[in-house]
Amino acid sequence: MNERIKIAIQKSGRLTEHSITLLQKCGLVISHTKDQLIGYGENMPFDIMFVRDDDIPGLIQENLCEIGLVGANVAIEKKLSYEADQSSCEFTLMSPLDFGHCKLSFAYPDSSIIRSIKDLEGKTIATSYPFTVRNYFTENKINANVTEFSGAVELAPSLGKADAICDLVSTGNTLRAHNLELGETIMESVATVLKSNAKQSQFKNMWIDKIIERINGVLQVNESKYIMMHAPKNAINEITNLLPGTESPTVIPLDGIEGTVAVHVVCKETVFWETLEDLKEVGASSILVVPVEKMLM
Ligand code: ATP
Ligand code: ZN
Repeated sequence: MNERIKIAIQKSGRLTEHSITLLQKCGLVISHTKDQLIGYGENMPFDIMFVRDDDIPGLIQENLCEIGLVGANVAIEKKLSYEADQSSCEFTLMSPLDFGHCKLSFAYPDSSIIRSIKDLEGKTIATSYPFTVRNYFTENKINANVTEFSGAVELAPSLGKADAICDLVSTGNTLRAHNLELGETIMESVATVLKSNAKQSQFKNMWIDKIIERINGVLQVNESKYIMMHAPKNAINEITNLLPGTESPTVIPLDGIEGTVAVHVVCKETVFWETLEDLKEVGASSILVVPVEKMLM
């Protein structure tokens, strides 16, 4: 059995390090040197394709790769472009990841009279995401022209090519440097797992499901804590109510101490000092919070 599953990730950019770390946390050992375009999974049947992020949805659409890690902004833009072309989209956006956060927002030149979406009627907007922006205008019944710019979108207004822009922002510093004011956001984006909709062999399906399950496990673990404490037996309900994202706790009797038990619980959200203080308030003592390394639900 020498079938291999191909995972496409960004070759060099904002998503690269995070994507590699995520796959490594899933237990994948990748052998890869900097200038190679393919990384080899040493201990599992996965090969990693290092490509431009914009090419990732297309590789899955063509079933050349089975999985991809890419910004939802890129995936949704491609999905809309296939739909506009009357072809079906052959991938599904699966788990949102915990990196690549950004937003797709309008920005208006300081010198312009455009101050909000309402002023965009009849205007020209430059963007690298023409399908997403057109879709937004259609949904909001705004008649505006969308012109595609593949890079340096911020320059479009000063070049006289557009009245406003719609681009990815995280801090807004680039906008300010180009005398643009941040406007409304039309999409919040985060890196996402894309999975091919194509029919796969049983072997590939098994490994695709396994890696997606491990990715979900890694995401849960990032926030999760294992909490141990002593508590009055009758306070268990109050305790579980105080801890966000917990399932049924393990309750262990304490030798020779009547009415007090040890409570162990996995908490899937961030545990703050305030929560520990509240636990103490309802009678808990000897509270220990430890990080969780792996989790399989
Ligand atoms: P290439 O096309 O060569 O792979 P790129 O220039 O398109 O690279 P990056 O700038 O690395 O790519 O951005 C990749 C992704 O990172 C974006 O599509 C987006 O999902 C996410 N991202 C997060 N923050 C930002 C930001 N401030 N600006 C742009 N993209 C961001
Ligand atoms: Zn790109």
